[in-house]
Amino acid sequence: MAKLSYVKEHGKRLLSYSTRQTFKACPRKYQMQNVFHQEGEISTKSSVDFAFGHSVAAGVQALMAGKSRDRALLELFSAWDADFDGENPRSKKSLPAAIEAFEIFERTYYKTLSKDWEVAQFRNANGDLVPAVELTFRVDLDGVFNYQGHIDLVLKHIRDPIFLTLELKTTSASEVHEAMYKHSDQALGYSIVLDKIARTAYVDGNSSGIGSYSVLYLVYKSGKQEFEILPFTKSLLHRAEFLVGLMMDVHYIKLMDKVGHYPKNGSACYDFFRPCEFFTICDLSNETLRAQLERKEAMAKARAEREADAVLESGNFANMKADELSFDFHITELLDMQVGHAHEVLVDDEVKDLNLFGEFMMPEVPMPTEEVDFDKLDNEVRLSSVAQNERII
Ligand code: SF4
Repeated sequence: MAKLSYVKEHGKRLLSYSTRQTFKACPRKYQMQNVFHQEGEISTKSSVDFAFGHSVAAGVQALMAGKSRDRALLELFSAWDADFDGENPRSKKSLPAAIEAFEIFERTYYKTLSKDWEVAQFRNANGDLVPAVELTFRVDLDGVFNYQGHIDLVLKHIRDPIFLTLELKTTSASEVHEAMYKHSDQALGYSIVLDKIARTAYVDGNSSGIGSYSVLYLVYKSGKQEFEILPFTKSLLHRAEFLVGLMMDVHYIKLMDKVGHYPKNGSACYDFFRPCEFFTICDLSNETLRAQLERKEAMAKARAEREADAVLESGNFANMKADELSFDFHITELLDMQVGHAHEVLVDDEVKDLNLFGEFMMPEVPMPTEEVDFDKLDNEVRLSSVAQNERII
């Protein structure tokens, strides 16, 4: 699995599963990463953990996509983006451990899964059939915000045109509980997009494909060195909850932008046995962070002018490699599809009673009656604290 990139367009705001997770964990952290584009500090320990996950996924994806064992192992090696002898002994993660995980998958779930499922194939922009590994999508939410994702693997049933989302995970936990994944909306969101892709991009004779209501998590427990598969069945209501939740996040982000304040969540400052990468800088004023960002952007602009052919931002999906699969939708297309499903199984009044999408179109961002200038407040508080300290000293 190559390091995944997202399409960043000037003036547009990107949301993904992980940016939404960050936003929910700590809005200030989301702001540091996505508004002020701060980089923070990444520890070596986390690099090994990430490299392990990427490598195991790359090997599994290649094998499932029908590549030879040697080729799959080569892809596993190529995805290792930490030191070759890097190791996290506590979680038993290293390059040799990733190879071992691959071999365990090959002996166990590869055989089980391949009996009924194969990696789906869709046509890319050039009309070529491409296996759906890291299938990329982008959903336009309101002309500014868009939701993007990469689906680890899309499986198709061997006999029927049913499509399934498979998420690959690695964990150092020796036991996995379904609560670790059941209400995660990562695969759920992907399955809604897949439902649309299956109906529109797959036609076999006169029948189009169907996106399954189930999602699969294939989890590798590195401590125990075994895989476990967890299937979850989602409902129409879960799908509606996801779509409404997504739009609510856009609504809250706009509110925080408008007020000029992204709250901190102190309980997220120490996670995965380490402090947040912004721990030493998240107290900087917005003014300072904005000035840093402007300097960075000015330097990037000057560099781009020097190198006329430099591509600073991948403008659209056309920049992707020919063998990549990507799909673009508008949120209303996904909504219409799910409302259509509701009408297929319920009568009109029941659809109305179910109130699947509630007040889907969010009202205008409500503002406090007196607008608070948080930048000003921030500075004033800072200055008064300095004065207070000086008095104490
Ligand atoms: S250090 Fe804590 S409050 Fe600051 S950005 Fe990180 S998680 Fe949020």
